[in-house]
Amino acid sequence: MDEKLQNSRRNTLKLLAMGSAAGVVGLFDSSEARADVYETPSYQKGAKPVTITKVRAIATAPGGLNLVVVKVETSEPGLYGIGCATFMQRAALVVTAVDVFLNDFCVGRDVDNIDDMWMSAYVSSYWRNGPVLNNALSGLDEALWDIKGKRAKMPVYQLLGGRSRLNVDTYAHVQGRTFEAIAEGVQKATEQGFRHVRIQQGGYGGVGTFQTPPDFKTANYARQTDGYSDTGEYLRRVPQMFEHVRKVCGEKVELLHDMHEQVEPIQAINMIKALEPYRPFFIEDPFSPENMGWFKKLRAATSVPLAMGELFNNINEFRDPMAEQLFDFIRIHISQIGGITPAMKVARLGEWYNVRTAWHGPADTSPVGYQANNHIDLAIYNFGIQEQQTIPQRVRDVFPGSPEVKNGYFIVTDEPGLGIDINEKEAAKYPINYKGMATVRKNDGTILKP
Ligand code: MG
Repeated sequence: MDEKLQNSRRNTLKLLAMGSAAGVVGLFDSSEARADVYETPSYQKGAKPVTITKVRAIATAPGGLNLVVVKVETSEPGLYGIGCATFMQRAALVVTAVDVFLNDFCVGRDVDNIDDMWMSAYVSSYWRNGPVLNNALSGLDEALWDIKGKRAKMPVYQLLGGRSRLNVDTYAHVQGRTFEAIAEGVQKATEQGFRHVRIQQGGYGGVGTFQTPPDFKTANYARQTDGYSDTGEYLRRVPQMFEHVRKVCGEKVELLHDMHEQVEPIQAINMIKALEPYRPFFIEDPFSPENMGWFKKLRAATSVPLAMGELFNNINEFRDPMAEQLFDFIRIHISQIGGITPAMKVARLGEWYNVRTAWHGPADTSPVGYQANNHIDLAIYNFGIQEQQTIPQRVRDVFPGSPEVKNGYFIVTDEPGLGIDINEKEAAKYPINYKGMATVRKNDGTILKP
């Protein structure tokens, strides 16, 4: 008797036993018909598992910002996956973590069991939760989801449960030196189809331009290239900016703003209260992660929606604030917490408490990372909004399949896996550079925490 026939008979006997228990014997006409409907999975057939043959980092800066992607190669010819491991400010360290440690850990292991791989790699360093190792782990994790999708011939969002919506609604970024320029930018964005726009007057904590240099620069304290934020002026101007944009652009457009954690917590509370008449969609990062204790006071003071969490490393940092509904939007940088697997756990926790997602999606996210965001966004119920940046053509040339934005939506295709690839020849043209976070100081030279 050949193997297929043996299997089909075995399955039929199982099904008959199940049917008998349920009292439905007689529904099945023939054993051959059952074998046609239920194909035995390859791992039950005793087929050799697909194993990892190499894990390596690819670092590239086609848009000027360091991007790191992990490629996982397998024992099946031509089958590989890619995942985002971008930590722009310490990119070379992630490359080392992947090439020196993660490769050794992974070679020879089965590609199938993603959660098991994640957990075992996570604890393999004993000390954990740092951004370098988490980003390396994200590269592996997302690549394994990509591989699983390719093997199933399905986009990753299907493996996560299928679509919960048409496409992924995003917000545009508008920065300007003057309120007039910002309002003009918002109008342009809405004409392009965006329903949500984040507004900033210059960089984070910015107020447009400064007439006089800060005291620390005049006195030659610290570096002349260091940034300066006049927090008093910033706190006065943000409500004025919202008032102006609402007056010019009307009520329909949703307005967002990122405080970037730079002001004192009590100042943040007072400023957010002053924004209530302008109905922000959310105010992002009112406090640094060191100041989480202030959230209860902020919640008691105002009902303005809040987004928080891009600097969190460990999914356990989200648990209590989400259960206490201290913010409305989870602002995770997915590679920073270790990839799709942990992000799904946080997203599902949010569903229980009606906390929605607003995954971080700045320019230092690789297009592979954007795709990871997008596949989760499509699948989960409690999606809120997705940050996006215009992906430059040179970056698109390195990453074929980079997602397009149409009418304010990221369009997710039905390509198997994450639906994106990397052109390594193109990537090699753009070596990475060291990029630290810019230092920003107060007037007297005190460093501001981002
Ligand atoms: Mg932010």
